[in-house]
Amino acid sequence: MKPRALVTGASRGIGAAIAEALAEAGHPVVINYRSNEDAAREVKRAIEEAGGEATLARFDVADAAAAAAAIDALLADGPPIGVLVNNAGVTRDGVFAMMPRNDWDAVLGTTLSGFYNVTKPVVADMIRRRWGRVINIASISGLTGNRGQVNYSAAKAGLIGATRALAKEVAKRKITVNCVAPGLIETDMLGGVPLDMVVPLVPMRRVGRPEEVAGVVAFLASDAASYVTGQVIGVDGGFSGV
Ligand code: NAP
Repeated sequence: MKPRALVTGASRGIGAAIAEALAEAGHPVVINYRSNEDAAREVKRAIEEAGGEATLARFDVADAAAAAAAIDALLADGPPIGVLVNNAGVTRDGVFAMMPRNDWDAVLGTTLSGFYNVTKPVVADMIRRRWGRVINIASISGLTGNRGQVNYSAAKAGLIGATRALAKEVAKRKITVNCVAPGLIETDMLGGVPLDMVVPLVPMRRVGRPEEVAGVVAFLASDAASYVTGQVIGVDGGFSGV
């Protein structure tokens, strides 16, 4: 039996595809989500129908108390969490000079405080068990910066820094920590993005599919990636290379 995997923000989009890919690779999966219960149940149903194992864990990763209670309950009940995918993320785009404080706080709260709230207790348990895989979903915006996304670019760049630092801290405990940095991926998050203007800038001339991100996450969780840590792997059709 493969180790249990917790995927945050797994009710839709990239997180749902990651949960399905990890379940297909044999991991029992915990599907975290914030509000969309029906969508989360649908992901669970699809995993079970394909022969996998999945449970639901509803909590807001940005809410320190709620996350602590949920992670405590998960660690106390059932097999240890050997694979953690920090995928939950939100955008609140707008020009920086006009950006409301709430839009700054919402984006950093989900990505960076969410990383802290979920990863700290899970990694502490991985350290005790001397094995683990942490995979953080960053973004091309955290590598190159993006107009209208000062909050999002700051949060994702912060997540990349946290990945590199934590990788060095826990490497000798057989825990790897890596980032996947997607470009334009076809999910609800792309709503409002003027694709006719942006897609021509992508060398592959198309947006990516959630499964194309999930495949790289599944690789990082696999034995094949046992000597890969502290890395940022772009999944962006060549976008960050131009
Ligand atoms: P999405 O379709 O909007 O889905 C977001 C998921 O995150 C949902 O499952 C949502 O749960 C969950 N979520 C949001 N805030 C949460 C919170 N505070 N606590 C727990 N769960 C929360 O987004 P996506 O496109 O799949 O994005 C997934 C990740 O990839 C994000 O980190 C995003 O920044 C990153 N990314 C996306 C793209 C892209 O083009 N799509 C590109 C680069 C990076 P509910 O359903 O309950 O709301």
